[in-house]
Amino acid sequence: MQAEEYNRRGKEMVDYITQYLSSIRDRRVIPDVKPGDTQELLPDSAPTEPEDWESIFNDIERVIMPGVVHWQSPHMHAYYPSLTSWPSMLGDMLADAINCVGFTWASSPACTELEMKMMDWLCKALGLPYFFLHHHPDSRGGGVLQSTVSESTLVALLAARKDKILQLRAELDHDVDDSVLNSRLIAYSSDQAHSSVEKAGLISLVKIRFLPADDQLSLRGDTLKLAIQEDRRRGLEPFMLCATLGTTGVCAFDKLSELGPVCEEEALWLHVDAAYAGSAYFCPELRWSLEGIEFAHSFVFNPSKWMMVHFDCTAFWVRDKYKLQQTFSVDPVYLRHENSQAATDFMHWQIPLSRRFRSLKLWFVLRSFGLKKLQAHIRHGIEMAKLLESHIKSDPNFEVPAQRHLGLVVFCLKDGNTLTQELLRRLTGSGTMYLIPAEIHTKRIIRFTVTSQFTTADDILKDWGIISKTASGLLAETKASSISAQPKPGKDEMIRTEDNHAGEEADKRVNAC
Ligand SMILES: *Cc1c(COP(=O)(O)O)cnc(C)c1O
Repeated sequence: MQAEEYNRRGKEMVDYITQYLSSIRDRRVIPDVKPGDTQELLPDSAPTEPEDWESIFNDIERVIMPGVVHWQSPHMHAYYPSLTSWPSMLGDMLADAINCVGFTWASSPACTELEMKMMDWLCKALGLPYFFLHHHPDSRGGGVLQSTVSESTLVALLAARKDKILQLRAELDHDVDDSVLNSRLIAYSSDQAHSSVEKAGLISLVKIRFLPADDQLSLRGDTLKLAIQEDRRRGLEPFMLCATLGTTGVCAFDKLSELGPVCEEEALWLHVDAAYAGSAYFCPELRWSLEGIEFAHSFVFNPSKWMMVHFDCTAFWVRDKYKLQQTFSVDPVYLRHENSQAATDFMHWQIPLSRRFRSLKLWFVLRSFGLKKLQAHIRHGIEMAKLLESHIKSDPNFEVPAQRHLGLVVFCLKDGNTLTQELLRRLTGSGTMYLIPAEIHTKRIIRFTVTSQFTTADDILKDWGIISKTASGLLAETKASSISAQPKPGKDEMIRTEDNHAGEEADKRVNAC
């Protein structure tokens, strides 16, 4: 293609995107498709001859859109937000054009240096401790963009494990294999933690113990302390806690102010997963749950969730970058450069070698919105959640079974799990809104997350109208005749962490994505 044609096609795509996003309210959120429907519309092999751009472009609406869940819709309430914004998309467009692979400083200096600056900007904007800054006289730490929270939690676990194994090795006077030391390690998180914590344990062959949360669904200091003592008596080596600020199930917060001091006394690496809630810390009044963050060794959140920087973009900070580097450093000749000593090479901070220029979209978003507009965006999402909550609470058919924090409201029908599940089935069956279930202990609940930055009070009232009307209809039916066929949750509808956590605490947890 000639430059002129690129330009024309590019503009056409931008027009399409603008049209798509501005009319997204009119599309049903959940597609009306069965497994295999999209594949049916596609040929079995790639074309031998080049195809017309026109026919490729037309296939977006014909093939792709009928099978898309519209995550940017104001009626998308499942999971947590996955927001985008035009500065973010334009940033990535530029990154895609440059398409540098910034594994070392020398492989594209601006890629590394912009990222370091953006991580410092973000660190300060969220009110995180100085020791996470790249540029601070007393800091040994810094931040890096990773692909996901899951990967960052694994990175933190591997760094904590390496550190502990080196320590144990130094204490021993004879040679023991690392795998023997590894088998003695144990890490902790609450039974509300994301399934990625368990996955990190599976990958690293490290035991993870899921501790029971209290009735606010928070992990408490005493619970951790007891578990550590018990495990030391069993001859194990506790080395890490993964605390969650804003759990996926109900957005509960582990009590960092209690857990931090226990981690310090017991020499545990404290990793903090604030995947969703991290964006809220732009607002000083929402930082109450950060009390105790001064004890953290690593902290991670997803700008790709609530901050309008689109996927992938995960901000991960460590207190001691040398602990990452001692875990991930390899030094082949072809990656050495004359500034190796003076410069930061992010390849030593992550699992893959290659890395995208993700900081461009972050830079564009931070500058285009400024901290003020980012704060307003967070506060608006919370206001919308409060609005829904107030309607639910004033309806005698409904219950809000866990305290609302931030932009997630959970609710259920007072009349029990079966009816709550049937309500959910009817609500999502029509495709007008997307909600997912979770569980608190044995109680089935429905999660309603405010996702889009364009959600208005009207959108919320419209959804609430549908929810309350569907519930009244359902309850009237059951009063007339008690439901005989009790529907079970569809397997793919119910995204669970239920089976993931082994151990005696297994019965006390919230399930969600
Ligand atoms: C969303 C979420 C994750 C998973 O994030 P990925 O970036 O998709 O790996 C982890 N932890 C919590 C608490 C989450 O809400």
